[in-house]
Amino acid sequence: MSSIIEHDILIVGAGLAGLRAAFEGITAGLSTAVISKVHPLRSHSCAAQGGVNAAINPNDNWEDHAYDTVKGADYIGDEDAIDLMCKEAPQAVLDLDAMGCPFSREEDGTIAQRPFGGANFPRTAYAADRTGHAMLHTLWEQAIKYGTDVYDEYQLMELTVDKRTGRCSGAIAMDIKSGKLVQFNAKAVLIATGGYGRLFASNTNAMINTGDGVALAMKAGAPAGDMEFVQFHPTGLKSSGLLISEGVRGEGAYLIGKDGKRFMQKYAPNKLELASRDVVSRAEMTEIMEGNGEDGAIFLDVRHLGRAKILERLPQIRQLAIDYEGVDPIDEPIPVKPTCHYTMGGIRADKVGHSMLKGLFTAGEASCVNVHGANRLGANSLLETIVFGKITGKAMVEFVEGEGAPRPNSVGKDLRDVQARIDEIKDRPQEGGVRPDDIRTALTENLNENCSVFRDDARLKKALKAVEKAKKDFAKAYVDDKGDAFNTDLLTTWELGNLIILGEATVKAALERKESRGAHSREEYPDRDDENWRKHILCKWDADKGEVTLDEDAVRTLGKEKYEPQERKY
Ligand SMILES: Cc1cc2nc3c(=O)[nH]c(=O)nc-3n(C[C@H](O)[C@H](O)[C@H](O)COP(=O)(O)OP(=O)(O)OC[C@H]3O[C@@H](n4cnc5c(N)ncnc54)[C@H](O)[C@@H]3O)c2cc1C
Repeated sequence: MSSIIEHDILIVGAGLAGLRAAFEGITAGLSTAVISKVHPLRSHSCAAQGGVNAAINPNDNWEDHAYDTVKGADYIGDEDAIDLMCKEAPQAVLDLDAMGCPFSREEDGTIAQRPFGGANFPRTAYAADRTGHAMLHTLWEQAIKYGTDVYDEYQLMELTVDKRTGRCSGAIAMDIKSGKLVQFNAKAVLIATGGYGRLFASNTNAMINTGDGVALAMKAGAPAGDMEFVQFHPTGLKSSGLLISEGVRGEGAYLIGKDGKRFMQKYAPNKLELASRDVVSRAEMTEIMEGNGEDGAIFLDVRHLGRAKILERLPQIRQLAIDYEGVDPIDEPIPVKPTCHYTMGGIRADKVGHSMLKGLFTAGEASCVNVHGANRLGANSLLETIVFGKITGKAMVEFVEGEGAPRPNSVGKDLRDVQARIDEIKDRPQEGGVRPDDIRTALTENLNENCSVFRDDARLKKALKAVEKAKKDFAKAYVDDKGDAFNTDLLTTWELGNLIILGEATVKAALERKESRGAHSREEYPDRDDENWRKHILCKWDADKGEVTLDEDAVRTLGKEKYEPQERKY
């Protein structure tokens, strides 16, 4: 295969957002390629359990969904994008239904919906507790049907920019099987590489969730936003961090302490276990710190739901609890704790997903469009992928057929530069060097401890020190595998470079934000401060200094008449 490949649209990431956008490109007749570092069906979207929100019930309406989302985001989500998402949600879910997605059904044949956290109506559509799996397989079938060019096991190494026009011109990727670099030239590029929950030692995320696209977009000149907001899910399994879906509480499960009693009435008297995730995670941590936990965990109790319902609605989570915790939820409560789950931060973009770098678009968890603000509501993320996959896909088609039609210039030197950096890493001696894995463990454990559910100045400064140490050590990171084929030693080292940038952005933004809002809870600033902090923090990569610098961006609001910020109570 030639080392230069040309397409109209290049999509990096084959999860739900990437495949949904590809559908728009390919059905508009444009040459559309998708690259993915794993087979598309191994994308993290496949792991999503609980469901996808949409006001499809005639007794519900999209304005209520939008209100719940604005409130859940703690009034820092971009309201134009939130309204757009909630309005388009029913059609986006029905599109998937028409493509053949096997959603669970009510007796009368309508799509079944369950309650979820932070929502005032049971509006979460689902396919048992394997919703992402069902949706991803559906979109994958469409990708095959329409002949999308899929390059699987290709890893994005760098984004390229046409210096003359300041426009993104494509990407350099490695064909993992051969170790060869390929230059993809395109008129528009989409980053749909998902989140970076792997930045924290305890997380619910797949190994591949290292946020490559976000870090590489920053390096190419597209700032990231909202990096301080990291979601800790209240019910990760105690030992492994694997997720037990919020859908379990939606089905009626309780949280209990070691005293066997429920405690959420103290923290969220109305919504109890179905308050929004940041609220429940803080409640759990408080109970654990006050001695009502056991071995760093509290318990999720589903016994009262009964065997039949557990087997019908929650088969996967039962199996996870048995396999990874040795507990059968039919007979015993499951030990759980807050675990890093979702990264609200991402590439800053307008409401159709165009980043601040011309020709570079973004959708899904990699993006900061921003519909989640300081705290994402459960089941709004699958929704984001299919709504903005569609909208951003259409926006890219328009761009490619309009002002983006002339192909941006690409430079052969880019590929040679990446190759030279790879060679330099492979040449590093073991003596005096550091194993990348040691750097990663030290960094992710430190962030887990010091940049987590509760934050304060002293701990965040410790986290910043850990980032600085990781940066220093990374310059001496050596790989044992000097070969070409499937060199995962090298590729995970490349990912570590990305994680370090994201870690620096997360900690610097968290230190900067001197208030508590959503998932960002500062002990010395316990209140939300709308006067000074109702704004996004932008993180930019300064190549000359080799560090992340901060800037600001306004929240796109629709005015007080539409959404008046209020104290958030559940
Ligand atoms: C366990 C779990 C359960 C969840 N449950 C729900 C739920 O019930 N409801 C809900 O709304 N949300 C849920 N979420 C969140 C939601 O699943 C994700 O936010 C969403 O699926 C992300 O989709 P995406 O398309 O943006 O990215 P992903 O599905 O993560 O896909 C990313 C793609 O990018 C590719 N990629 C990454 N880096 C590179 C690179 N360097 N080169 C090439 N390709 C690359 C990957 O190969 C992959 O194809 C859950 C998340 C987890 C972890």
